[in-house]
Amino acid sequence: MKAIKRILYTVAEILFVLGSVKLGIYAKEMDREAFFENSDENRFPQTIVHYVVTDFLQMPLPDGKKEKKVLVMGYDGFREDGLWNILDDPFSSVCMVSKEGGLYHTYAGGDEKWRQETTTSPGWASILTGQWSNFTAVESSDDVKNDMAKTFLMDASQKGISSAFICSWKEHFSVTYKNDIAFVKQNNLPLQFFLEEGDNKTYACLLQLVEKNPGQIKKDEEDPDVIFFTLEMTDLAGHQSGYGNQNPFYRDACIIADACGRNIIQKVMDRETYEQEEWLIIITTDHGGIGNTHGGQTDEERNTWMAVNRKIKIDS
Ligand SMILES: [Zn+2]
Repeated sequence: MKAIKRILYTVAEILFVLGSVKLGIYAKEMDREAFFENSDENRFPQTIVHYVVTDFLQMPLPDGKKEKKVLVMGYDGFREDGLWNILDDPFSSVCMVSKEGGLYHTYAGGDEKWRQETTTSPGWASILTGQWSNFTAVESSDDVKNDMAKTFLMDASQKGISSAFICSWKEHFSVTYKNDIAFVKQNNLPLQFFLEEGDNKTYACLLQLVEKNPGQIKKDEEDPDVIFFTLEMTDLAGHQSGYGNQNPFYRDACIIADACGRNIIQKVMDRETYEQEEWLIIITTDHGGIGNTHGGQTDEERNTWMAVNRKIKIDS
């Protein structure tokens, strides 16, 4: 009798544990999907970032606003499930931005018609130009971008809008955008390229570029209207010790990148002229990762995301 009771008790306990595990998983999955505006099956290509920026710059200024400002924040190699580390914090950079607009599932690596590596140079080139590598010609970090594939930064600078590209990934400067850099110099365009020594320097540069303290007067180049930057810490952690939340170093990198982003957004919101400015803020990533690498076509590498402070039409 005692033995039967014990068996029944053990069975009940196992069922209870299994039940809560199952409930826990489902509940979490539902909560996580609730953060996104589009479904996992209806992801946007990462090229959408270019079009969101371009549309914003073409729109008339709303009443009461004097200037448009764009900030595109890149967290390199920030896998989509890395978001689980920050989405429960309403003051995370991603939540602060998406609460005004939305968080969207996106994808890297090309589509059915054209595949490209889920790597840094092709990814950011697609985000900046709105094209896959069949047009950008950036199939790896060895390729110079096709001049015809214009970044939204180049586009803005040719219209006289002060713009800036800031990061510590050297290949952007020595290879991918070297023609853009030469063109900007030749034509004296207001597009600055800042090659920084690491994320600390990128972060410091950003804080300086976006801050506007009471009474502070800044020249156009000190206060660019279109800014793009990347932080590399998530990608570095992934390469060093593994992409994904099983790796505490990767999780920490997600949290720190997000905290840097949050401080930058706070600086924006603290600007003396913030109320008169119309800001578009986007946070996104270039690719995910699996094991200690990326480049392939697995979901872990292809699934990316975009937080934006404006609603995007789902059917567009
Ligand atoms: Zn990357």
